[in-house]
Amino acid sequence: MIVDLSRTPPPAPPTCDVCVIGSGPGGATAARLLAEAGRDVVVLEEGPDRTGAELTQRDGEMYDQLYMERGGRATDDLAVAVLQGRALGGGAVINACDVVPIPDGVLAHWRAKHGLAELTPEALAPHLEAALADLSANPIGEHQLNLANRLLRQGASALGLRGEVMRHNRVGCAGLGTCLIGCPANAKRNPRFVAIPAAIAAGARFFVRARAVRIEDGGREIKRVRVRTLDDRGYHERGEWEVRARTVIVAANAVATPQLLLRSGLGNGHVGRHLMLQPQLPVTAMFDERIDAFRGIPQAYAITAGEVEDDPQHGLWGFRIEAIMGTPGISASLLPGGGAEGKRLMGRYAYMASALLLVPDAPSGEVELWGDGRPRIRYTQRPDHKARLRDAVRMAARVYFAAGAREVWVPVSPPIVLRPGDDLSAVDGLDFAPARVPLISAHQQGTVRMAPSAKAGAADPDGRLFGARDVFIFDSSLFPSSASSHTMTPILTMARWLGARLAV
Ligand SMILES: Cc1cc2nc3c(=O)[nH]c(=O)nc-3n(C[C@H](O)[C@H](O)[C@H](O)COP(=O)(O)OP(=O)(O)OC[C@H]3O[C@@H](n4cnc5c(N)ncnc54)[C@H](O)[C@@H]3O)c2cc1C
Ligand code: SF4
Repeated sequence: MIVDLSRTPPPAPPTCDVCVIGSGPGGATAARLLAEAGRDVVVLEEGPDRTGAELTQRDGEMYDQLYMERGGRATDDLAVAVLQGRALGGGAVINACDVVPIPDGVLAHWRAKHGLAELTPEALAPHLEAALADLSANPIGEHQLNLANRLLRQGASALGLRGEVMRHNRVGCAGLGTCLIGCPANAKRNPRFVAIPAAIAAGARFFVRARAVRIEDGGREIKRVRVRTLDDRGYHERGEWEVRARTVIVAANAVATPQLLLRSGLGNGHVGRHLMLQPQLPVTAMFDERIDAFRGIPQAYAITAGEVEDDPQHGLWGFRIEAIMGTPGISASLLPGGGAEGKRLMGRYAYMASALLLVPDAPSGEVELWGDGRPRIRYTQRPDHKARLRDAVRMAARVYFAAGAREVWVPVSPPIVLRPGDDLSAVDGLDFAPARVPLISAHQQGTVRMAPSAKAGAADPDGRLFGARDVFIFDSSLFPSSASSHTMTPILTMARWLGARLAV
């Protein structure tokens, strides 16, 4: 059952076994496993339920409806755009479908540095296998590689750089290219089409346009989750409602989860701290030949030559470079020129190919509350992150020139335009001053970190929040360091691991 509280008055406040907050890979998987284990489950989701033709491929409307804060969420200094989904199915509705599990080196780091002794590859294997099955994970086929991805691979192999075509969770992809604003072909095997129908079949009830604003009585057997219902567009809070539950699972994302805990006065001093944003930078190459990078799967090939999966100090480190393509609105905002020049450059949209530079970070931020309860995201980009990002820019430029690009644009202010034969010294001056570089975060982690004791973290190795009774966390807030270059599969795997323990 899916009930839209912007259209239907809420029922009498239910008392259930489990209230899950958030319906992305973490929350939907929790709901499914617990409903299948016979628990009475209620799921709260503040986003809308949109599928098929309701995913209109229009930039403005889709960012407005499918992203947190209508796509405008950012750190408090506006240095990093913090992108997160807001829909039934969570970020998996608008993500790029790349399936990258937690590397063994990261698990080794979590055991050695963070005391998570049980997280061995062997122990996690059945849960990873189940997660991959949930995703129908399959290799992106050679015939599905568009020219932009093939050029990135061609440049990398010309320079002898290691790379790979990734796995994805698409089945029946029509190659429309608008994955980041939802898939009208319903080709993504995301929670909306897998865990949520399974949870509903097992009796779970889903309420959309239902925002959890506070968890009360967190130390008691029955907790009260205060809910505000939203209007049809999700702009305004309308009514009040309440769900009572023995167990509360928060899987709202690594910003909204600590936000809710802080609003509720729940948890210890680690809540909200240790934020990682994995800030990414897009770069664009201009070719003489037509690329049509907006057709087909945008993010299929990754150069992994710069990536380290088992850095003793950090776990995942280094950087990776992946093809990507912005929708017209996003691409227009990244041009090295505006006005008439911007219009001229957009006329060359079909000749552009873009890459994302993905650089893992160490914890260096926190989520706090503004006076009205909204999240305040503070983040300091560390010097080591800036240095690896510069290395990634240089490698991406060399790769594109090896593939025949005429120019490579680094979308900073003022813009850097690199040409074949340049010594790339212009990149040395990249200082990443706030609001001069369009850094993007799609993989927030760490804000309710998992640890063996309350001294070191906010939740125990079962995901149970320290200092509360039967409040669990099931999202990337738990990760003590970057779980992977992409977070959907790690979250799904950990949700299966935690859910299996809780369902016993
Ligand atoms: C543009 C983009 C591209 C990405 N591409 C990839 C990729 O290719 N591969 C990959 O592995 N990962 C990718 N990711 C990351 C991945 O999608 C997320 O890590 C994943 O969706 C997080 O899962 P989750 O269940 O923890 O939270 P989410 O999926 O973020 O779901 C949380 C849900 O909770 C809801 N919510 C929040 N607060 C409340 C509240 N107070 N009350 C009720 N509901 C609430 C939100 O509306 C949201 O729907 C991408 C992310 C973005 C933004
Ligand atoms: S490229 Fe495939 S998955 Fe992406 S939106 Fe188009 S049909 Fe959907």
